[in-house]
Amino acid sequence: MSQSIAQTTLITHWIGGAVSQASPIRTGPVWNPATGVQVAEVNFASDADVDHAVATAKSAYAGWRKTPLSRRTEILFNFRNRIDQNRDRLAEVISTENGKTLADAHGEIARGLENVEFACGIAALLKGSYSEQASTGVDVYQIRQPLGVVAGITPFNFPAMVPLWMLSNAIACGNTFILKPSEKVPSASLLLAELAHEAGVPEGVLNVVHGDRLAVDRLLAHPDIRAISFVGSTPVAKSIYETGTRNGKRVQALGGAKNHMLVLPDADVESAADAAVSAAYGAAGQRCMAISVIVAVGSVADPLVAAIRNRIPNIKIGPGLEQGSEMGPLVTRQHRDHVAGFLDSALAEGASIEVDGRDEACASRDGFFLGASLLDHVSPGTRCYDEEIFGPVLSVVRVQTYAEGLQIINDNPFGNGTAIFTQNGGAARRFQFEVEAGMVGINVPIPVPVSYYSFGGWKSSLFGDLHMYGPEGIQFYTRGKVITSRWPDPGTSKVDLGFPQMR
Ligand code: NAD
Repeated sequence: MSQSIAQTTLITHWIGGAVSQASPIRTGPVWNPATGVQVAEVNFASDADVDHAVATAKSAYAGWRKTPLSRRTEILFNFRNRIDQNRDRLAEVISTENGKTLADAHGEIARGLENVEFACGIAALLKGSYSEQASTGVDVYQIRQPLGVVAGITPFNFPAMVPLWMLSNAIACGNTFILKPSEKVPSASLLLAELAHEAGVPEGVLNVVHGDRLAVDRLLAHPDIRAISFVGSTPVAKSIYETGTRNGKRVQALGGAKNHMLVLPDADVESAADAAVSAAYGAAGQRCMAISVIVAVGSVADPLVAAIRNRIPNIKIGPGLEQGSEMGPLVTRQHRDHVAGFLDSALAEGASIEVDGRDEACASRDGFFLGASLLDHVSPGTRCYDEEIFGPVLSVVRVQTYAEGLQIINDNPFGNGTAIFTQNGGAARRFQFEVEAGMVGINVPIPVPVSYYSFGGWKSSLFGDLHMYGPEGIQFYTRGKVITSRWPDPGTSKVDLGFPQMR
């Protein structure tokens, strides 16, 4: 149901503090998932566009890294305020292109803002260390310096928050930044760039190039890009990590997820069911920290499945921009059909479909809607367990013991987030100690760390050494330099060919 391109807006790049005037060679459609109508066309960057952005960022770097910390902080405070003043506008843009509800869009803006607020503390975060009198008359100290031009490649599901995870700390550290957002949701990044410009971020410090794989390939190959931050699916994360590091770049590449919620027999069933429904179906399951598998231990399984099943009909499905909607559509028709395909194969794989989201109410809508689905008796080794579904489909795996449940979670190739629901502090502590995942919730279903910790999974959910944002983000966007200094006293100076020893 596409409109003619003549009627749609052309969304293009932001380079050097202005909208790029380059004519597009290739473009792609941008959809409103709630209506199924194309709302814009986005310009896909050519190699020349990427090269132009990198050259612009490179020439801005010299001035930006010299900009005093106090001025950078002031600009970041302004940026924080500009975003805060434009929350409604940003939320509407996010909801229009991504489909999530306005409340959810406001949630991601709030979590993104936390990262700008963290970066406002850059003066304290960049403090080095100093050792006086390491040797007689010799002092040793370490400073952290920016890398240069760095790039971020982001997914469709958090059009504002994930770019803010990256760019806030990257520019605060003195780097210049090129953002390549998801081509499905290009407008939020442009609005952020505009707000940053209004806040006083100098031209060329923050640039946005739109596009698909070709733009990413050019960023990965460009010799002037020092580091790449990536968030998206596991196959792409792995390939970006391999190519980027082979090309000598620092890379942190966060991938997909299959987040398990272990529910012990002593858990409060009603609150565990509330948490499961919220975490599985919020944003139509399109969150990297969504709960997609419940591991129900022993006697809790029957009442828990019944409690979740009872809650599903109450979820208000509708356009994200409509007041009262709790769950919006999926991002594209193709993704909706892909997610629905897991329900087609689930029965044959031995699962039971407790609630089927492929209902009439959703099918008759124009947008890319799919209702909430609940699968029970799901087993590892089946497609709906092994693959990341990334939609409103919650699977229940039944086990008899805590140890059996833990084994299933630890055997899973993904290790992003996980949660335990129990009233037993000892069991929760044991789980925290034994589970193999990067982020753990104890009676908290979506344990996204606050901005002064760092975000990242284990195993196939992250390629690289450093997690995103927080202290590890500052480490990622800077490199250390150690200075050994002596201010010679001419009276004690002499030739000494021995290896320097700190005495
Ligand atoms: P995606 O991997 O398809 O795309 C992510 C980005 O990579 C986009 O900017 C896209 O244009 C680009 N891209 C896509 N294919 C590419 C290729 N072959 N080569 C180079 N670049 C390519 O992911 P998506 O569908 O936008 O987002 C959903 C995925 O992201 C899910 O797997 C989800 O779990 C994951 N995700 C992970 C986290 C996390 O923190 N670990 C957070 C959000 C989303």
